[in-house]
Amino acid sequence: MKKRAAQQQLIREILRILYGRWGRQHWWPAETPFEVIVGAYLTQNTAWTNVEKALQQMRSAGVLSVEGIRKIPLTRLEKLVRSAGYFRQKATRLKQFVAFLDERYQGSLQKMFAQPTAELREELLALNGIGPETADSILLYAGQHPVFVVDSYTRRIFERHGLVKPSAKYEELRELVETGLADFALSHPDIIDPELLPLGSCHQPSPMSTASRCAQAQVFNEMHGLLVGVGKNYCLKSNPKCNECPLGSLLKK
Ligand code: SF4
Repeated sequence: MKKRAAQQQLIREILRILYGRWGRQHWWPAETPFEVIVGAYLTQNTAWTNVEKALQQMRSAGVLSVEGIRKIPLTRLEKLVRSAGYFRQKATRLKQFVAFLDERYQGSLQKMFAQPTAELREELLALNGIGPETADSILLYAGQHPVFVVDSYTRRIFERHGLVKPSAKYEELRELVETGLADFALSHPDIIDPELLPLGSCHQPSPMSTASRCAQAQVFNEMHGLLVGVGKNYCLKSNPKCNECPLGSLLKK
């Protein structure tokens, strides 16, 4: 495994190459912070296309809101989110999240996201069905907190480039990216320029993708979206397409 300084240099290089090639990715595709939270729950163990169907069902039924989830009977909610799989569990957990929000923050996402990042992260992790990836997705994409979201694509890409061992824990990867990209925005101010053309965006701009956020949150937002692009299109589980991948040149270093 590479030494710390080399790891951080490589992480910066990965972002520099991908951002230069594809530009803004416009994550997360949603209209409201609550829609991001619902999507973060529903996307567990299923493809995003199935989540989109469930979100559309909820939207059509007028329940894609804190109030909507609070009021809808559980069995009706289960039917609406059926396409996302594990629908009973997911519907129950959405209800539990709203109960937590009501009890702790008087039903206000604004109050919840006003908490310091580390404290809110602990609270979210204590909820049923929220692991580190879901907690960090909620913090970053719904709350604009500066945390990096580690997913299976990040892990695979980093392992193949000798950045981490297969046994590396979630927190190790998160800390590696967060420290490696700590001052990235200073040397690449265009990453926070809202006028930059979305060269190879995977999503259309949306109210949440263009929401106001600090430079650090913007950097982590783009890094995650770009790594998903690599993982989906090139760094496949078997037979990775290294010859076509934008990161192919880094394998030789
Ligand atoms: S496909 Fe190859 S070059 Fe691209 S990220 Fe994966 S291992 Fe690296």
